[in-house]
Amino acid sequence: MSELSVLLDAVLFAAERHKNQRRKDADASPYINHPIALAHLLATTGGVNDVVILQAAILHDTIEDTETTAEELRARFGADVTNIVLEVTDDKSLPKLRRKELQVEHAPHTSPSAALVKLADKTCNLRDIAAAPPADWPLTRRQEYFDWAKRVVDGLPAGNAELRATFDEAFAARPSR
Ligand code: NDP
Ligand code: ZN
Repeated sequence: MSELSVLLDAVLFAAERHKNQRRKDADASPYINHPIALAHLLATTGGVNDVVILQAAILHDTIEDTETTAEELRARFGADVTNIVLEVTDDKSLPKLRRKELQVEHAPHTSPSAALVKLADKTCNLRDIAAAPPADWPLTRRQEYFDWAKRVVDGLPAGNAELRATFDEAFAARPSR
């Protein structure tokens, strides 16, 4: 398969897996908008043209948020894509607050490819919280999410300067009301 074909295969697979899920904004946007936004940010601002990283961005929430297994991803998309997805997947058997602390602790040990996906994920989520936040989140919760995301991103190995600048721009919109 060509690189375009394998990328579109990831888009098709993720769209099917997330088809009944919605984001937490007031409009309950289709979930797939979010992985597409990540891959778009990486390819445009980030200048990333490694199809493995773009596939991983598209698939990054499939294990965490759908019934998808690592074995399924490995069989269809290969070990490299799957390993990146696994690196950005939380262990859902742990309590949520522990998972958030672990993201901070693990950040410095993230591989360069997974760090790009994680940076794009946090940037897209900050943009969402600024523009279309979860309907029931008070100011303090939105601010705490911004501060936690920055702790994670500050811990990541330095990589793509353009993407980091874009994260900083998103962070500058930290809500104040
Ligand atoms: P959650 O982890 O519950 O929700 C944030 C995640 O939701 C994002 O990381 C993103 O994940 C996804 N998401 C879906 N739609 C949106 C959207 N429109 N905008 C942004 N993100 C969206 O939130 P917290 O991290 O705040 O909470 C963690 C734990 O703390 C939970 O157990 C929560 O109940 C608890 N808690 C926290 C409070 C606080 O003030 N921080 C207050 C009360 C409880 P993805 O990239 O995977 O899509
Ligand atoms: Zn995500």
